[in-house]
Amino acid sequence: MTTRDADRAVSGWTLCSAGGCEGVTGSAHLLMTEDARVLVDVGLFQGPDDEEANRAPWPFDPRSIDAVVLTHGHLDHVGRLPRLWADGYRGPVFATAATLAVAEVVLRDAARIQKEDRARARRRARRAGVAGDAPRPPYSDNDLEAVLARGRPVPFHRRFTVCRGVHGTLGRAGHVLGAAWLALDGPAGRVLASGDLGDADGPLHPPPEPPPPTDALLIETTYGDRRHRSWDATARAFAEVVRRTLERGGNVLVPTFALERTQAVLNTLQVLEARREIPSARVVLDAPMGERMTDLYRRFPQTLRSAIADRLAHGDDPFHPAGLEISRGGGTARELRDARGVVIVAGAGMLTGGRMLQHLAFHLGDPRNALLFVGYQAEGTLGRQIVDGARGVRVLGDSVEVAAEIAIVDGFSAHADADALDAWWRASGARVVVPVHGEAAAREALADRVAATGASVRQAHLGEALPL
Ligand SMILES: [Zn+2]
Repeated sequence: MTTRDADRAVSGWTLCSAGGCEGVTGSAHLLMTEDARVLVDVGLFQGPDDEEANRAPWPFDPRSIDAVVLTHGHLDHVGRLPRLWADGYRGPVFATAATLAVAEVVLRDAARIQKEDRARARRRARRAGVAGDAPRPPYSDNDLEAVLARGRPVPFHRRFTVCRGVHGTLGRAGHVLGAAWLALDGPAGRVLASGDLGDADGPLHPPPEPPPPTDALLIETTYGDRRHRSWDATARAFAEVVRRTLERGGNVLVPTFALERTQAVLNTLQVLEARREIPSARVVLDAPMGERMTDLYRRFPQTLRSAIADRLAHGDDPFHPAGLEISRGGGTARELRDARGVVIVAGAGMLTGGRMLQHLAFHLGDPRNALLFVGYQAEGTLGRQIVDGARGVRVLGDSVEVAAEIAIVDGFSAHADADALDAWWRASGARVVVPVHGEAAAREALADRVAATGASVRQAHLGEALPL
């Protein structure tokens, strides 16, 4: 490999990404020294046309990897782990105990969806009289169980042996339950992977811990070109929508992702109700995976804000608004068909599936109700169609009029904004910075600010070796 002077490694590490370097999903960064290969995250690509990318050959031999370290349990950071095992990886999987627990729920759910999708594709092909079979899933149940059994919990701040000649340290990233940044010390220097960094102002997690000094840095750039409004402003906007909807006798439908957003919404409802900023109401959580994740938040309070962890320690539940009902069976939407004044929390966050669709079918056509979005709606999703102003949409095969109030409260982000990212990489003192996990505009905005300080900015490309 030839390298220009300006591209010379300062850390002794070389990067080869299998995703998450030129977009926000599919994070998988192989970090190599002469003797060691450590894969940081093994995420799934999550765009609407990414099926092929998730089946594409690895740019490295999975059997040659010494260890995997997971920064957190989001599907775009762990989703290809069982496939890595199916393709020959046999080493340990290091992460915080909370991240391993979250990843297990996420991966089992993904495996279930994968099976359902295949069964549906087979039925459709049979009906259409098409010969052949739907493509086989890239991993089996046995692969999933085997790789879950290789989980090795690592506490925060304790230096651990990743493989021969390499030590790791995890620090709190404040992004979702258990989330960490990772410092890797090799024989010639240190590389730091930020993972996803949380919003300093968020309701559940304290700001990310400052980085240790490092030679090279991989930093996420989801919001590399944007600033968030304050949490107070977000909570006020959220309260206003809930209050006016309940006061006119409507229902509030809040689509949420199971991890972090569900808990943030439940906690916010509880806090606002206690402060009498919203009236007391029935709150129905109709999200089995959201409830499983909420249980993990109760079990692993270590990464939560101390005020929330203290409440848990005293037997108080910060995820339980007074009127909370947790639906157990699948018929809740039908039961709530004629209900008034109910807050319904259910998945999926972008209306790509999940039980919220059943609720929408009953409530989207009534102007008294509100559909309250608290997260980004990606291109190609039902959520995006509605946010973009569609007057009628297809929900579970039926046409539904969009007559409910459509409200967007966008401060619930679990990611650091541009100012927070800048403060973080500056504190690391890194001489080589690789912006990852961002769309081009966000990555370039941060890259320009880094370059202005004289540090070397390097762009990683899928499958290419990049000395750090
Ligand atoms: Zn994440």
